[in-house]
Amino acid sequence: MNAVLQSHSPSATAREFLARRHRLFIGGQWVDPAEKADIEVFDPATEERLATVPRGGPKDIDRAVAAARKAFEGEWSKINSHDRSKLLFRLADLIDANMNLAVELEVLDNGMPRMVAHYSIAKFGADYIRYYGGWCTKILGETIPVSPQDAPNGESLTYTRREPIGVVGAIIPWNAPMIMAILKIAPALAAGCTVVLKPAELTPLTALLLGDLIRQAGIPDGVVNIVPGYGHDAGAALAAHDGVDKVAFTGSTEVGKKILLAAAGNLKRVTLELGGKSPFVVFPDADLGRVIPGAARGAFFLQGQNCMASTRLFIHEDVFEKVTRGIAQLASSFRLGPGLAQDSDLGPLISGEQRERVMGYIDAGRKSGAELLCGGDAPPGKGHFVRPTLFARTSMDMKIAREEIFGPVLCAQSFSDSDLKAVAAEANRTIYGLSGSVWTRDISTAHRMVNLIDSGQVSINCHAAVDPAIPFGGNRQSGWGREFGREGLDPYLKTKATTVMF
Ligand code: ADP
Repeated sequence: MNAVLQSHSPSATAREFLARRHRLFIGGQWVDPAEKADIEVFDPATEERLATVPRGGPKDIDRAVAAARKAFEGEWSKINSHDRSKLLFRLADLIDANMNLAVELEVLDNGMPRMVAHYSIAKFGADYIRYYGGWCTKILGETIPVSPQDAPNGESLTYTRREPIGVVGAIIPWNAPMIMAILKIAPALAAGCTVVLKPAELTPLTALLLGDLIRQAGIPDGVVNIVPGYGHDAGAALAAHDGVDKVAFTGSTEVGKKILLAAAGNLKRVTLELGGKSPFVVFPDADLGRVIPGAARGAFFLQGQNCMASTRLFIHEDVFEKVTRGIAQLASSFRLGPGLAQDSDLGPLISGEQRERVMGYIDAGRKSGAELLCGGDAPPGKGHFVRPTLFARTSMDMKIAREEIFGPVLCAQSFSDSDLKAVAAEANRTIYGLSGSVWTRDISTAHRMVNLIDSGQVSINCHAAVDPAIPFGGNRQSGWGREFGREGLDPYLKTKATTVMF
């Protein structure tokens, strides 16, 4: 049974930040919202109020888009690629310099363990910005050899140039707030775009810290604007705004579809990073010493509130008992607690509503006849905790195996088939296609399975390898487009072709 840790207290610096009179970040200034309204921010580990932030609405989105347009057409367009790069590097350095505060705010706001926040903000915050800072000076067009016969003098030159797409609306979720903000801002700025960011209403704090750091880095006014607000209100206004050229969204598939419809008004470009229900396929020859912790980490990282989570285990029947027993044992040893408590392995879920949703799925799992091997309950007391839960003997006909739960619930089913196509068909039996992994020592089996699984990322003997340079994104209803890597820059650029006839 998982131990539940208690007590954590924020540092004086964090307390000072939380107590501030927070405002919207528009045109490089901290400003009040057009209509006075607030969002109360709570600590999911204690359910206590952490801070009050202003609630931006459509009028504030209008102001922010106007500021982003002004910067895009003005000062930002005059800054050359070397200087853009330097500004991004400066921002990355400032994140490193403010790491403790960033980590603490992220942990308090989201609930993730301190170590997870530190790792993610260092690697996918600061280093991700540096990665894209490096791209500023490497955005290249092409020269295209074409027939010159139309040219009066028989000579012509055709070349392409990659131009920034314009004003980007970025709408992000609550599961990894600071890095989600950076995943959008860094490639947009590297490409020469400007941004209006709407953080999730549940977790706006690190986005506000980012506003401070963007200012300190000397990034010109209006290049990044930050408007906390609700999805149906500020988010919908941003997605539909005629002054926005592209919307970059991470969140649920359901909301992704709404964004797409809202974006149709001015046919703005859209990239969507949506849900997942990723398969984790274990063959009998796999190294079980790596499989067991790999499966537990893959499923329970961020309390399972992670679109890449390995939520569906397909395990060969010869090793099914051993693997599921091993995962259950390991998961039961995880300590639940506030992210700031020294030894927490797993934090709380983001909200009471999310916990109810997850518990509803657990109930459905029990009723559908799946075998509960560990967890299945929420510890009593404060905080939205749910014990890591493993169901065995699931099938793809069950709701828990089909739908994205976004909580610490793992489904395991066995296979006996030596027909890899049949195994892959089960792995592909969802609307999603984001991540996935294959565990075997047989190089042919591994690569054949990689070919057969329809996901944007399929790893071998690891799950969800993430690096700023590795493209990431979904197939089918997991999304449109890719983030990370060189491909992550493309959605922020448009191509202009020019022909000169001599
Ligand atoms: P999650 O379930 O991870 O919170 P959501 O898809 O509900 O994901 O929310 C992700 C982001 O989308 C949040 O910032 C939220 O405010 C925003 N959002 C929710 N509904 C809408 C909407 N109709 N239009 C635009 N943004 C929205």
